[in-house]
Amino acid sequence: MLILGAESANARLQGRQTRTARSANPDFVPQPCPSCNSTEHSSTRSKLCPFHSKSTDELLEEAVGKNFEHFTRKCPFESVVMSTYRQPLHDAVIKLSGYLRSVVIRSHILANAYLLDLQGNIPPPIFFLKTAFILSCRLCSTNQ
Ligand SMILES: [Zn+2]
Repeated sequence: MLILGAESANARLQGRQTRTARSANPDFVPQPCPSCNSTEHSSTRSKLCPFHSKSTDELLEEAVGKNFEHFTRKCPFESVVMSTYRQPLHDAVIKLSGYLRSVVIRSHILANAYLLDLQGNIPPPIFFLKTAFILSCRLCSTNQ
């Protein structure tokens, strides 16, 4: 019996592996795990690490077993915050959101300017790490 879903899933997996292998950065140097110095993984979040730090799902599974569901409870802003604090908190959230949006937009503009300044050269591997994004956000953040 032919199962089309399994065959197409295998084809997708093979295509994904081929695409990943072709687009791999040959200059990439894996960062060792800060806890065990292994280069097979980059942090304690990996199950390969002897100092593995468990995720929330793993902790929940240990506590209540495999059969659990996540629930999200929503409650209105007005029912959580006392009336005297609503307007100042609302204003502060709006101000902070605007500030964060401006920092992210400025850091994207900075990254784009950097890439254009490279004039076709390949950016260094650190450019693609989360650290580079955080550093560019710090450069673009100001005390307003
Ligand atoms: Zn480790």
